[in-house]
Amino acid sequence: MKAPVLFIVIPCYNEQEALPITAKRLTELTDDMIAKTIIDPASRVVLVDDGSRDDTWRIIRELHEADGRFEGVKLAHNAGHMNALWAGMTLSAERCDCMISIDADLQDDVNAMYGFLEAYQNGADVVSGVRSSRETDTWFKRTTAQGFYRLMGKLGVEMVYNHADYRLLSRRALQALLSFGEVNMFLRGMVPMLGFKTAEVYYERGERVAGESKYPLKKMIAFAMEGITSLSNKPIRYVLFLGALCALLGVAMAVYVIVAVAKGHTVAGWASLMMSVWLLGGLQLMALGLIGEYVGKIYMETKRRPKFILEEHLK
Ligand code: UDP
Ligand code: MG
Repeated sequence: MKAPVLFIVIPCYNEQEALPITAKRLTELTDDMIAKTIIDPASRVVLVDDGSRDDTWRIIRELHEADGRFEGVKLAHNAGHMNALWAGMTLSAERCDCMISIDADLQDDVNAMYGFLEAYQNGADVVSGVRSSRETDTWFKRTTAQGFYRLMGKLGVEMVYNHADYRLLSRRALQALLSFGEVNMFLRGMVPMLGFKTAEVYYERGERVAGESKYPLKKMIAFAMEGITSLSNKPIRYVLFLGALCALLGVAMAVYVIVAVAKGHTVAGWASLMMSVWLLGGLQLMALGLIGEYVGKIYMETKRRPKFILEEHLK
């Protein structure tokens, strides 16, 4: 079979420390793959600068000038990891046979790509890279991440356990994914919806090659919220059940109050009154907040805003 044209898409946000190392590794890797005719020489590495404030774009430009294999995409502002990836995928879809997305810090083992391409040659349209261990992550990151996968499973969102955004998509899988119109994106929950033949490749997750995580706790929480509310309606149903339960309790309470009145001891009751006021008030606020979350999503979806704004494309 003919060697496929592979596009490797890498979102980069303030990655000036990691990029030179990453670029060198990818040069070696693609050289080797081309030599072994695993991939076509027309293959590219697409570096998407997600509105970085450091020297990332200058480095990308230099890489592109030195070696045409590196393409640069500059987004006009920080659109976020998922949108940066989407930008890279959109700009690659027409020109590649398959695409691999990977983070700029190379925490995910690039050698797993050999396995990805082998699975692709064997007919897989979607190949997910799965971390066989998470020892290099902090205890906190590991536990929160695993709790999140479990929660998503409970909420009915199909996801590959311990798989991040290191994956191969064939051209047709990529085009199918790009036809999803939603603005609120959670790619690792969307890819399993594509169907198609899938495969998994296991690898050890390493340390960042340089620089520090671009995902502080605040972004992690926002990311998890995004995943839940953009893919699952179950939280809203749980609130409904909770509301129903409260209403039932309220009925029981009413019976109790009527009995109490009939018996004539009606003075004391401040405590239970206060309790119900607080409890119900709290629950109502919670429900409202959650509904607001979805209304906010509808609001964003109806705007049909572009997911990214392109400033420059070096190709
Ligand atoms: N990233 C991005 N935009 C952002 C935040 C992160 O493009 O707003 C990129 C970042 O450059 C990296 C990838 O997303 O290539 C994953 O980020 P990171 O490795 O910092 O996350 P972690 O591995 O700590 O979860
Ligand atoms: Mg990382």
